[in-house]
Amino acid sequence: MSGDTNDGLPLAILTGLAGRCPRCRRGSTFAGFLNVAPVCKTCGLNFGFADAGDGPAVFVMLFGGFLIVGAVLWVEVMFEPPIWVYVVVFLPLAAIVCLGMLRPLKGLLIALQYRNKAGQGRLES
Ligand SMILES: [Zn+2]
Repeated sequence: MSGDTNDGLPLAILTGLAGRCPRCRRGSTFAGFLNVAPVCKTCGLNFGFADAGDGPAVFVMLFGGFLIVGAVLWVEVMFEPPIWVYVVVFLPLAAIVCLGMLRPLKGLLIALQYRNKAGQGRLES
């Protein structure tokens, strides 16, 4: 069944990165740039379960930081440019890379949360 949580992991990853609903894969997970929609407009899935928390920001810092700092170090070693080059080139580049990665990574974490039925731990009563 399409959208079943037992579907393949690569498909769930692609669905999440595209910001699509993890169940129907047609509707959007988002209402706005980073706000999660209350429900999927296509299949009605309630996104109340979706809580990516700080996860997307952590991965953005890891991957984006690696890319940008690596590029800065490479440019410094290879060309030794004046400081304004870093301000003009790498400051906007860092903002673009980080903001560009934030939404796909949030969608990915929500899709994986849905696929793995992840949620808060509960004690049986
Ligand atoms: Zn849906």
